[in-house]
Amino acid sequence: MYCRHCGKELNENADYCTSCGVSTNKGNAYCSFCGAETNEAADVCVKCGAKLKKLNGEPKSKIVAGLLGVFLGAFGIHRFYLGYTTIGVVQLILSVLLGFFTCGVTTAIVGLWGFIEGILIICGTVITTDSDGNLLQ
Ligand SMILES: [Zn+2]
Ligand SMILES: [Zn+2]
Repeated sequence: MYCRHCGKELNENADYCTSCGVSTNKGNAYCSFCGAETNEAADVCVKCGAKLKKLNGEPKSKIVAGLLGVFLGAFGIHRFYLGYTTIGVVQLILSVLLGFFTCGVTTAIVGLWGFIEGILIICGTVITTDSDGNLLQ
């Protein structure tokens, strides 16, 4: 990846730019994927088409979100944690409300759904950002 503040190429796991010292979550002057200069207000990189992630609030933990999904996935808690409220509510309704009428069948299904999402979050695939588009840390 590239520093979004100065455009220097960085180690994928770097937390701070070794050149300018700015956090790799901050800045919007360069595309973190291809290193091209970007407009400060742009939402996507015009060169590679990547979504330019802006940090809104604190980055959320991949491990916390993943474990919530694994253990409390049936109630959509990991979705609430990540800010995906709508799908969290859907999971909650399916498992609690419909679970009551289906003798827990939908609860088990949503539990498995949340469990798989939890694993995917921890592995850093499919679900990699919160609802604000911040990469999970
Ligand atoms: Zn930099
Ligand atoms: Zn780019």
